Amino acid sequence: MHEASLARAIIASVSEALDERHIDPRRVRRIHLAVGELAQVDVESLEFAFGFAVEESSLRTSSLVIASVPAVLTCTQCGSRNLYSAEFFFTCPLCQGACVVEAGKEFDVVGLDLDDAELDDDSGHFVRSACRAVEGVVT
Ligand SMILES: [Zn+2]
Repeated sequence: MHEASLARAIIASVSEALDERHIDPRRVRRIHLAVGELAQVDVESLEFAFGFAVEESSLRTSSLVIASVPAVLTCTQCGSRNLYSAEFFFTCPLCQGACVVEAGKEFDVVGLDLDDAELDDDSGHFVRSACRAVEGVVT
């Protein structure tokens, strides 16, 4: 199952990033994940799979918090930015030009809440290194 391997990938990359910083994984309370509208991830299945996978890991005290990221498309012809919709698909609603995805394919760990501190934007490097590990599995 796709979502089961994603859940394991999240746990593995967060564990690795914590390890590098000598942070006890038992301190993690919440793992914040951003999932793009076009990332082809079933959020419910992922939450379910994570619940199982995390029990067998050193991150068992943590829960997964998933934020959905809307898809934004940019037109290669007129440069307009539009929210993705099934009607327009990858065609510009203004000029019918072809569009490229600017946002909406994310599958990133964007932050961790620890028991007595928060690591988010201030700790960008840590978070990004975790993200890259996850992306590697998705693509
Ligand atoms: Zn256009």
